[in-house]
Amino acid sequence: MVMHAPEGTRDLLPDEALFWEEFKRTAAEVFGRCGYVPLDTPIIEQTELFVRGIGEATDVVGKEMFTAISGANLATLLEGGSIKNKSRLSLRPEGTAGVVRAVVQHDLVPQGAPPAKLMYAGPMFRAERPQRGRQRQFNQVGIECLGTDDPTVDAEAIIMLMRFYATMGMPADAMRLLVNSMGCEACRPAYRDAVRAYMEQHAEGLCEDCHRRMETNPLRAFDCKNEGCAAVMAGAPKITDHLCEDCQAHYGQVKALLDGAGVSYHEDAALVRGLDYYTRTVFEVQVDNGKRSQSAIGGGGRYDKLAEEVGGRPTPGFGFALGYERTMLALQEAGVEFPAARRCDAFVACVDDAARPQAFAVVEQLREAGIKADMDHQHRSLKSQFKLADKLGARSVAVLGPDELAAGVANLRNMATHEERRVALSALAGELAVERSEN
Ligand code: AMP
Repeated sequence: MVMHAPEGTRDLLPDEALFWEEFKRTAAEVFGRCGYVPLDTPIIEQTELFVRGIGEATDVVGKEMFTAISGANLATLLEGGSIKNKSRLSLRPEGTAGVVRAVVQHDLVPQGAPPAKLMYAGPMFRAERPQRGRQRQFNQVGIECLGTDDPTVDAEAIIMLMRFYATMGMPADAMRLLVNSMGCEACRPAYRDAVRAYMEQHAEGLCEDCHRRMETNPLRAFDCKNEGCAAVMAGAPKITDHLCEDCQAHYGQVKALLDGAGVSYHEDAALVRGLDYYTRTVFEVQVDNGKRSQSAIGGGGRYDKLAEEVGGRPTPGFGFALGYERTMLALQEAGVEFPAARRCDAFVACVDDAARPQAFAVVEQLREAGIKADMDHQHRSLKSQFKLADKLGARSVAVLGPDELAAGVANLRNMATHEERRVALSALAGELAVERSEN
């Protein structure tokens, strides 16, 4: 029986895996221009981190985490034996909680220090119902800036994300930037009560989950995927009508900075994002793919209380994550073409087997000189070596036969122009390097 990758996971085959590398490189370059540097955290963290950081009442933590019990005796578990909190480990469903944990653990933002600007890239895990654009293992690239609540950080990060999409070739009119403010601990409780009261009045139109949310965390109802609930929640009180003066001023400044940078956005009072830690600015970049629940290609916001939730001193923060697979789908839908990866620049072909040892040596010399070079490993005919060279994307093929070997030369063919010329083997690497720089 052929084994398949688990449902909701996907192999990134070589062309796409190379593109994922390119994607991360572009992100590092664009975000690096704003001072962001990499931080790599473990893929597993204590379950408690996500429960405290993201919130138990969120779908991501309440329903979608892959959790394992480390070092436990299965028999004890089956008998209902107690599990130490520390032995509950979860695969990370998102990157922010781990980064904030690392910042607190290593004191990366000591008192008075400039903000820490950090970026990460890697797989995240959510036990969701798999569908196109919704996987159980998917890749994200994200940033976190900790140590200031200044609106310039919010605006800078949003602009930087839009710049990244543009650099990847996403047409501006294929994306929509939504922004909102979620308020803070001063203004949100009263707003939450207002939403709960509204939900109680409209309880008959809400699903079972939203009845539960009404008690535990009414704002989560804005995220409900049920159309009926979305219709009810569209009429709910708006957070922007309940912001305290400070939050209003902060939100106003973020918008003014976006306006100043010429970034267009829509205000969406129903945008609350799926995690509990957000305060003030939240935003999402959506594409119109006709699927409401998979339209977000990236998003994030401010989380000024999260560091304290995970045991640190007050350290305001802002971050976002963008989904690699969703962005790829959106780019494809926008007609962006991805070139197949070039595996080889120069191919060394042999007229007969006698030339193979010399061809092997030449290939190695070219590689030493920094040229992507290859040769046939299966004793193919000269004709099929040319076909292979073409398939690998080679720009030049150096042919070695008895005459060439005797003269210490190669017959160098340019695959685009079909021009051929004789080049001394000792000069081959230099010639190929010149050709490469001209192309
Ligand atoms: P979130 O942390 O939910 O805001 O996710 C950030 C981004 O990651 C989203 O905008 C999506 O592009 C992507 N994403 C989230 N969940 C999934 C998933 N299950 N499968 C694929 N991409 C996802």
